Amino acid sequence: YVSPDPINDVEQEVKEWAKEKKIEIDELKREAIFRKEFLTNLSHELKTPLFSIGGYLEVLEDSDLTDVEETQRFLKKISNNVDRLSILIKDLDEISKLESGEIPLNIKKFDITVLIKEVLELMELEAEKHHIELLFKQKYDVPTFVMADRDKIRQVLVNLIGNSIKYGKENGTTFVTVFEMHDQILVEVTDNGIGIEEKNLKRLFERFFRTDFSRSRNIGGSGLGLAIVKHIVEAHDQAINVRSTPGIGSTFGFTLQKAKTPLSTIPLIKDL
Ligand code: ADP
Repeated sequence: YVSPDPINDVEQEVKEWAKEKKIEIDELKREAIFRKEFLTNLSHELKTPLFSIGGYLEVLEDSDLTDVEETQRFLKKISNNVDRLSILIKDLDEISKLESGEIPLNIKKFDITVLIKEVLELMELEAEKHHIELLFKQKYDVPTFVMADRDKIRQVLVNLIGNSIKYGKENGTTFVTVFEMHDQILVEVTDNGIGIEEKNLKRLFERFFRTDFSRSRNIGGSGLGLAIVKHIVEAHDQAINVRSTPGIGSTFGFTLQKAKTPLSTIPLIKDL
């Protein structure tokens, strides 16, 4: 077979090749922009606490340290900024491990309600400090076994419940609720805290995104917590969403794969 128009064929091939290359180049450009943005954000996040530490140290060096109260106040500020840097480095380490796929998911069957109770107990002290009550709402007929990486889901719960405490109101309440949806389980963390403005909702899961409120009030955090949550949930091929009303509160929900009920747990007719 001889093509009636070989020149046109070659032209077509070249066009397709160019189209493919353009897609590859665009992807590389996007990655480069992403990396640049990441480094700019990171250096900003590192600079703020470091400058602050430097500033307080300078004041202490210039003073004769006779005012004990003042000295202690400055030392506390330095210690808070060191904590901020430690959280940032811990979260960075976590996100880079997740993204490199260094630790593959360890999917096993486990009872999500046991895990939720474990995390609630762990966060009890932190909640008490902020005068926030942590409650677990369980409907008795919801199946509770899921297939997921228990340690990673633990991290998701710690981050979401931690945020509900940080951004909760004094004497507020956080509810963790479990629902059944076809072959999935939906876990929701609801607070009656400060809420999130509509314009910020879609940026919430971006790395380093923090609302002006968290930045201006100097509420501890790296701005990486929700990026880590999203990464873990999506690595499980599951979904995360948020609804919120400023001044009223927020609900963060994520799904999990329901474990299949083993046949052995279904009562046999002769046992009934
Ligand atoms: P961090 O808490 O370290 O700043 P996150 O990634 O966990 O970072 O959250 C990003 C931002 O989303 C927070 O700074 C805060 O502004 C907002 N946010 C997260 N959870 C809540 C919540 N439950 N209520 C109100 N705002 C929230």
